[in-house]
Amino acid sequence: MSREFVVDGPVIVGAGLAGLSCAIELAPARCLVLSAGALSTGTSTGWAQGGVAAAVGPDDSPADHAADTLAAGAGLCDEAVVTSITAAAPDAIEWLSSQGTRWDRNSDGTLRLGLEGAHGRRRIVHAGGDGTGAELLRTVVDAARRLDSVTLWEHAPARRIVVEGGRVTGVEADTPDGPVLLRTTAVVLATGGIGGLFSHTTNPLSSRGQGLALAFRAGAALRDLEMVQFHPTALDVALDPMPLVSEAVRGEGAIIVNERGEWVLADPLSARDVVSRAEWAQLRSGHRVFLDARNSPGERFAELFPSITVTAVAAGLDPARDLLPVRPAAHYHMGGVLVDADGESTVPGLYAAGEVASTGLHGANRLASNSLLEAVVCGRRVARRLRDVRRQSRTGPPVVELVETPSAEIAAPGHDGRFGPPDQRQLHERIRGIVTAGAGVLRDETGLRRALRDLQPHLDDDTGLVGYLVAHAALRRTESRGAHTRTDFPQAGVAGHTLVTLDDVAGVAA
Ligand SMILES: Cc1cc2nc3c(=O)[nH]c(=O)nc-3n(C[C@H](O)[C@H](O)[C@H](O)COP(=O)(O)OP(=O)(O)OC[C@H]3O[C@@H](n4cnc5c(N)ncnc54)[C@H](O)[C@@H]3O)c2cc1C
Repeated sequence: MSREFVVDGPVIVGAGLAGLSCAIELAPARCLVLSAGALSTGTSTGWAQGGVAAAVGPDDSPADHAADTLAAGAGLCDEAVVTSITAAAPDAIEWLSSQGTRWDRNSDGTLRLGLEGAHGRRRIVHAGGDGTGAELLRTVVDAARRLDSVTLWEHAPARRIVVEGGRVTGVEADTPDGPVLLRTTAVVLATGGIGGLFSHTTNPLSSRGQGLALAFRAGAALRDLEMVQFHPTALDVALDPMPLVSEAVRGEGAIIVNERGEWVLADPLSARDVVSRAEWAQLRSGHRVFLDARNSPGERFAELFPSITVTAVAAGLDPARDLLPVRPAAHYHMGGVLVDADGESTVPGLYAAGEVASTGLHGANRLASNSLLEAVVCGRRVARRLRDVRRQSRTGPPVVELVETPSAEIAAPGHDGRFGPPDQRQLHERIRGIVTAGAGVLRDETGLRRALRDLQPHLDDDTGLVGYLVAHAALRRTESRGAHTRTDFPQAGVAGHTLVTLDDVAGVAA
């Protein structure tokens, strides 16, 4: 039996940058934030290295940032959304500063700006060198904790969105005190990405698209789920998840070779998807793939990339002398819950922000460092929208006060995704293998149909369901575009979106 609570305000599912930006912006309006594990764990936010893209340099403009974003998105971006989010970027940086983010600055106090692949200008704002994500997470966790209006429940994974009469009326969650039903008129999904669905990933293993499963079962439309960005230089040293070797290493002259020392592709500075495809083809034909940084940056490696050096050395590798084994790993999900400009899904009362959402910013390929930007801008936009809704509803019945449980003080039961019951862990490993084989970097009809067949018996499990939906969308997109490559349809077709809803996936139970 589950206990029932009436929440005075929205329930935000997820405590990364998107969820906590939403909670902070809502103040003084109240909200309840659910974190699946302990606060500050299980987020991609905390692991981000590069930074936040924003046109704040003297030679830059939001229009230039928008143009680079549209070019990367390969025809699937929503231009109005791109214009609006890139225009909001400088303010997002200011807002994070006002919340306490300590950005890296030049000696004159101006922001130090980095350059990343496919950005035409220096516009990557960063903190602590390659520790941007940790600084951002510290900022929003501290800020949320300071606010009386934000109630934080840890170890409280959401399990089901309750929809009655066509709109959201609550959410069911597990807590250390048992299952609960939280009555609310607004639920914000901010659950992050899906990298944990693949055998090779840079994401926390708990990022398995739980928000997509919640939204799908609630009847919401999901868009472009097949669009998964694979990072080409994840360090292949038997760690799960895999450590990331920044793209900047290739920028400093490192090349990609196979075990015979042959170049894997002519232009070592090619885009992520191009490099990932070339590597995948090598791996499939039995070769191994390495990042060769011995000549360039060579002896300067440790000075330029201190944290990658620490990781490599721990794995017994010296980047100045050894080839670094690498492979493509699932890194970022462009697809997600279809939302409008305010972050509302196709189910009234259900919102989404951050990596779980499909706003139209990234299209078929994300421009580096645009995802933290989207998380903060869109998290705050959802909050502003919810504040408006609440203002209008003041004429309605009074809101019942939230009844709290003291769950934050209770010890962790291990809800971080890796430590499920053994049979569930085994099932998830099996699902990861199926999804990787069928819906990895290179896809074709035979492999995708096999994945769908093998996942069909596991649709009751959220991980199995989301893997199935990704493969289903990948089968439907009979073209190659951006991050999605079909070897049986190598050309781009007419630009369009894939939509997945309960109605059009036969055999999938709600
Ligand atoms: C290694 C790495 C490096 C990256 N570098 C960059 C970069 O430099 N720049 C950039 O822009 N992007 C980068 N990204 C991507 C970026 O970090 C993410 O897209 C972004 O942080 C997502 O934020 P989020 O708030 O949407 O989700 P997350 O930060 O992943 O947070 C998700 C939250 O949801 C919770 N959750 C999940 N399911 C449930 C549930 N059922 N119930 C309750 N809570 C739940 C989790 O516990 C967590 O609190 C990187 C990603 C990785 C993995």
